[in-house]
Amino acid sequence: MPKLSSRLRRVSPDAPKGFRLPFPVTSKVRFAQLGVGPRFEGIKPFRAERLVELEGFRPQVIVGQATDLQLVAEQVELGMLDLSSVDHALIVVTHCGLEPVTDVARVVLWQTFGVPVFEIFTSLDYTVLASECELHEGWHLEADVQLDFLQGELLLNTHGNSGLRTGMTGRIDEEPCPCGRSTPRVMNVRPATAAFENSRPDLAAIA
Ligand SMILES: [Zn+2]
Repeated sequence: MPKLSSRLRRVSPDAPKGFRLPFPVTSKVRFAQLGVGPRFEGIKPFRAERLVELEGFRPQVIVGQATDLQLVAEQVELGMLDLSSVDHALIVVTHCGLEPVTDVARVVLWQTFGVPVFEIFTSLDYTVLASECELHEGWHLEADVQLDFLQGELLLNTHGNSGLRTGMTGRIDEEPCPCGRSTPRVMNVRPATAAFENSRPDLAAIA
């Protein structure tokens, strides 16, 4: 388990490198990160087992995987944690191989924190590959990211990967987004298993 950093630095609005946050921030906005994820410059890391320290930090943005954020939301709902400081956003880190955040989880997070939820998709080394904009309509691909499809599943052909399975299905939309960004978006992202289960023969019936 990584040692909890006691060092607190200012957060660069441009962090991580090249990635544009979908909401306005200043260098004074307090970002907390649960567990591992992309390296936001100056972010304060926390372990999911030490949430009391998170409360003391009074974060305005929390970055973490959906399961960790849901755990935090549960504790807030139970009155075990006061995270009323969260007033900017939640950033859900979905790294390659994890399931995209579900609509149910989004509703839970929204009801608990009352701030927008932005999902970012990262490679195995937590480079940001794609992210949601403020309109929440698909994931904008970063400039150098190449995706392919195999039977509907998205494959990653970038950042040293060749045909890496993502476990997700989706489609690419090249149309400019009303948010003003013109980068292609991955739309209708779903876990590949859900799509495959619907098309798979009923194995139980065969056995
Ligand atoms: Zn957009």
